[in-house]
Amino acid sequence: MRTEAQDLVLAGGGLANGMIAWRLRQLRPELRVTLLEAGPTLGGNHTWCFHDSDLDAAQRAWVAPLVAHRWAQHVVLFDERTRTVAGGYNAVTSERFHEVLSRELGAVVRRSTPLLEVRPRQALAADGQVFDAQAVIDGRGFAPSPQLDLRYQKFLGLELQLERPHGLAGPILMDARVPQLDGYRFVYTLPLAADRLLVEDTYYADTPALSPAALRTRALDYAASQGWPVARVLREEQGVLPIAIDGDIDAFWRGRQGQPVSGLRAGLFHPTTGYSLPQAVRLADLIARQRDLSAPALAAVIERHARAVWRSQFFFRALNRMLFLAGPAEGRHRVLAHFYRLPDGLVGRFYGERLTVADKLRIVTGKPPVPFFSALKVLLPPRRMESPA
Ligand SMILES: Cc1cc2nc3c(=O)[nH]c(=O)nc-3n(C[C@H](O)[C@H](O)[C@H](O)COP(=O)(O)OP(=O)(O)OC[C@H]3O[C@@H](n4cnc5c(N)ncnc54)[C@H](O)[C@@H]3O)c2cc1C
Repeated sequence: MRTEAQDLVLAGGGLANGMIAWRLRQLRPELRVTLLEAGPTLGGNHTWCFHDSDLDAAQRAWVAPLVAHRWAQHVVLFDERTRTVAGGYNAVTSERFHEVLSRELGAVVRRSTPLLEVRPRQALAADGQVFDAQAVIDGRGFAPSPQLDLRYQKFLGLELQLERPHGLAGPILMDARVPQLDGYRFVYTLPLAADRLLVEDTYYADTPALSPAALRTRALDYAASQGWPVARVLREEQGVLPIAIDGDIDAFWRGRQGQPVSGLRAGLFHPTTGYSLPQAVRLADLIARQRDLSAPALAAVIERHARAVWRSQFFFRALNRMLFLAGPAEGRHRVLAHFYRLPDGLVGRFYGERLTVADKLRIVTGKPPVPFFSALKVLLPPRRMESPA
């Protein structure tokens, strides 16, 4: 069955396409847009966090209704140092994302609509419906690509109802004072209410394999070790996020074959954290500015943007190589502890991908936490794929 042709069809109702749909509704309400999601709700089951400094003031303003929790500071804990980092830290929950977008977008959203095939101007649903548009943006999440050399940030998080208040003033972004297993391990804790926490057992690992039962036990053991008695586990989420160490960006984009793409499918994520909310916001702003929404024009604009982002991320991939390739896996936590000696402003610019030349010099100077010659080998442009920006 054919539906009425649209200006834009967004395939996948996750973070990136949800942001695009919402920004278009705000700035271009005259456009005919359809957002197609396989699941029963938009945004899946995530807690997406970002720092204030990841976005500019205008972006923070339009994203604000999605923010379910906000804190003024956070801490990081290593054996070597305890550090409080000033600056707003925000959490967008899937629940809030679904609630706000469903309300604001109304009939634009079509849930429980799994797609079998996505083409530049057409999407085919499993129930036989055919969606035509000037352009279809494929935002169906991460698609494994042999052109990207990846490592992983993987985690399992439990939302815990406690028997009594935890007393935390803000998030613990990294507590690395835990046994170091499977690479760099830390626990990430968000205080969602006075007696409710999200506790995530997290790894910077070489492989994507994740053992939910083991991580569940470790998250609960961690809560017990902190003196947080658990009344109930309310929810669970898990993730395996891409950490880029290298890549052949030309081959990656040849593989898209003129299909407009968004989010992780467009390679738009922070190379060192795998987080993608700030990139999703920037892409939504970019798309909302386009007058020509034909598939070839959109594919070209998105590719140009994503290639520029990739080039600007060269330094981050070099740091990732230092983290993953220069020393033994069990020593990785020292690289992070060393990084957190740096000032708050620089830490913010690191997460916001806004490092200056002076910042970069500052990051790589000082007594290196990995053997000097190994670090030098992996910091330099690598074997095959890329060259410096
Ligand atoms: C648990 C978790 C927590 C994360 N936390 C953060 C964080 O704190 N901050 C941050 O910036 N990043 C975070 N990330 C990383 C990254 O931002 C997310 O993975 C983000 O959701 C990726 O956005 P996306 O739009 O590319 O894909 P997704 O948000 O995964 O969206 C893809 C959507 O497409 C739908 N879909 C897939 N196949 C089909 C189909 N055939 N037909 C129709 N629909 C389909 C999916 O159901 C999904 O809703 C997290 C990831 C995970 C997994």
